[in-house]
Amino acid sequence: MRRISIFGATGSIGQSTLDLIGRAPEAYEVVALTGGANVAQLAADAKRFSAQVAVIADEALLPELRAALEGSGTEAAAGQAALIEAAARPADWVMSAIVGAAGLEPGLKALEQGATLALANKESLVTAGKLLLKTAEQYGAQVLPVDSEHSAVFQALVGEDIAAVERVIITASGGAFRDWPMEKLAKATVAEASSHPNWDMGQRITIDSASMFNKALELIETHEYFGVSSEQIEVLVHPQSLVHALVGFQDGGLMAHLGAPDMRHAIGYALHYPTREKLPVERLDLARIGQLDFIAPDAARYPALELAYRVMHEGGLSGAVFNAAKDAALDGFIEGKIGFLQMAEVVERVLDLLLPDDGLINAPMNLDNVRRATHLGQSSAERLIRGIDKT
Ligand code: NAD
Ligand code: MG
Repeated sequence: MRRISIFGATGSIGQSTLDLIGRAPEAYEVVALTGGANVAQLAADAKRFSAQVAVIADEALLPELRAALEGSGTEAAAGQAALIEAAARPADWVMSAIVGAAGLEPGLKALEQGATLALANKESLVTAGKLLLKTAEQYGAQVLPVDSEHSAVFQALVGEDIAAVERVIITASGGAFRDWPMEKLAKATVAEASSHPNWDMGQRITIDSASMFNKALELIETHEYFGVSSEQIEVLVHPQSLVHALVGFQDGGLMAHLGAPDMRHAIGYALHYPTREKLPVERLDLARIGQLDFIAPDAARYPALELAYRVMHEGGLSGAVFNAAKDAALDGFIEGKIGFLQMAEVVERVLDLLLPDDGLINAPMNLDNVRRATHLGQSSAERLIRGIDKT
């Protein structure tokens, strides 16, 4: 039996992972399940899968979780220290599906005990890619990409030499506002930004898809995970979301990965790697689909992309600053303090302020410095947001 833990089990990726596990429960022993605040979902899943421990991030919810799990045999725990403790419990495969930089520390802990880390939490790679991959190497553990584009690139590279790669193209649907006139974007509401044309995902990543901050994170994720230079990575808008990525080789050949927009493919690939198993995802009927479109991204519409190239050039802790500023700007938008287009303006101004600080950006990449860069990125963005007059 494989020992499995899922961090962020109550979210979109976590639930899709449990859907797959639930189809062959006899094959898995569930060690830890964690959630942010949804006690009912966490407790129900912990009971269904007889988890060893269930952890809720919000400490105030511990009594509620305890009550819900009473008599079940699953331990109840809460808070950051409990999350880290759960990640240190021996497991063979750990899904990292917490949203945001909060996913980094449990991921590092899981690698330290040698688990294979299935990484949906792209923010860990953006914030501290080198630290994460160095930790994996040090402990002989493996990180497998779960983001659909990165799983696609990973699959296109099986049996290939990374030195023969000329370019990597990740696709983007263009998000909720692809066809909106620019003048209308400034007034876009949270509700409008929270619906995605093709994928059903958590709210934060859905809004990040509309602004393309999600694609910006994925550019950096590609750079960090595969070690290809920023000049080799491109974004292509592909409204159908059926081609997830393409890898171009030195001989001019392009390997594309196609599949239905269903995260259970990438999750299942990482779950069964290196073998392929039958997965409950829709099979594409290309004759019925008929047409696939590709469009160059409009830099003016999606300023987040340019910011990602800036971060890739800068390197060091600039990713931690970028991700933290992006998250603070996203909070500002969700809370109605800034407009949709002001998110990129805030992040750009934070980069203008902090990237020239060599002492910060080029400090050694350890957890303390990552926290420092994250804090500065977040507090600088929050300060800017307080000074903005939303018009
Ligand atoms: P989600 O919001 O649906 O779920 C996030 C999970 O993390 C929930 O369990 C939530 O309770 C938990 N959580 C939130 N904040 C937390 C905190 N501070 N501490 C501990 N737990 C916390 O998000 P999602 O869409 O499932 O995305 C999860 C991750 O996977 C993100 O990094 C996202 O970018 C990535 N991802 C998601 C998709 C997708 O299709 N949903 C695709 C690719 C990558
Ligand atoms: Mg993706």
